[in-house]
Amino acid sequence: MATATLTIDLDAIAANWRALDRLSHPTTQTAAVVKADAYGLGARRVVRALAEAGARRFFVAVAEEGAVVRQALGPGPQVNILSGHMPGDTEMIHDLDLTPMLNSVEQITRHLESLPGHPFGVQLDTGMNRLGLEAGEWEAVAALVLEQNPELVMSHLACADEPDHAMNAAQLAEFHAMTDGIGVPRSLAATGGILLGADYHFELTRPGIGLYGGRPFVQAQRVVALSLPVIQIREVAAGEIVGYACGYTAPEPRLIATVAAGYADGLTRRYSNAINVFDGQTPCPVVGRVSMDLITVDVSHLREIPRSLDILGPMQGVDDLADIAGTIGYEVLTTLGHRYTRRYASTLVRGQA
Ligand SMILES: *Cc1c(COP(=O)(O)O)cnc(C)c1O
Repeated sequence: MATATLTIDLDAIAANWRALDRLSHPTTQTAAVVKADAYGLGARRVVRALAEAGARRFFVAVAEEGAVVRQALGPGPQVNILSGHMPGDTEMIHDLDLTPMLNSVEQITRHLESLPGHPFGVQLDTGMNRLGLEAGEWEAVAALVLEQNPELVMSHLACADEPDHAMNAAQLAEFHAMTDGIGVPRSLAATGGILLGADYHFELTRPGIGLYGGRPFVQAQRVVALSLPVIQIREVAAGEIVGYACGYTAPEPRLIATVAAGYADGLTRRYSNAINVFDGQTPCPVVGRVSMDLITVDVSHLREIPRSLDILGPMQGVDDLADIAGTIGYEVLTTLGHRYTRRYASTLVRGQA
């Protein structure tokens, strides 16, 4: 196998969805956020696995992503567009039965004028100052909008991954103030909000990262494994250097493995001299700079040279890499590149084998 292999465990994604679903009351619907190609893992395969697990409502960022989800699932499941009804999207929203979450008075006007009677939801801003109608705008249009039977009224929490942050309670109170008594299903919680407890659940929750095995859902099953093939081994003498900018100098004779993946595959240069990759359970330090397509690894301590080394797997998850790179698991996942051989593991596939 010449290219690195990214294995995506669809059963683990389904199990994580069920686990998050169990955290809310049975009458609360659990949707699934699959924007950015299901956080980089492949929307087509992921949404089919989630639909099989019972998910009936999906959220994406933009209409084009919604088209992919609709084509993968066929008619039936609801496909919601978080960026709302953008100019030029009317036909796609109509033809593929997408449900825009309208974010502004402008979008509300566009939607009601161009697609009267077509399903929609409304996004309210309860303090994040990113998307949605603010309290004053909502007050001005609420009566008119509610007459048109929105499917959902939602808002988004800015600090839900910090349970003790005062912003959570403040946004919850603002959401109540803006929506109590409207008689429309409501949604406030993403993964972090689900973990904040029942007060935050309303009629629908919208987990994303928790499905894919990332914090703050620490009980999540691991979803991805990434295995990098060893393409060359060399002995390096004491004092010799490895890689660009002489990023590593061998203090004594060393055995260096070169593996096939690099920053063009989403493995950031911040991993240079900073992480381990694994031979089974044995850590092997990355030495020198991460190149575009190659990473060099000290394997002097291994008894046998492995065919590949794991950068993601049971020994190291996306959040471990994120911590070292100074980012979040979301970014580690969504920047994984397009050169990997992708393997989807699932009971279905194994059952057919
Ligand atoms: C991305 C997103 C989600 C999912 O958030 P996670 O933290 O990944 O669970 C839910 N709602 C909105 C509006 C989002 O933008």
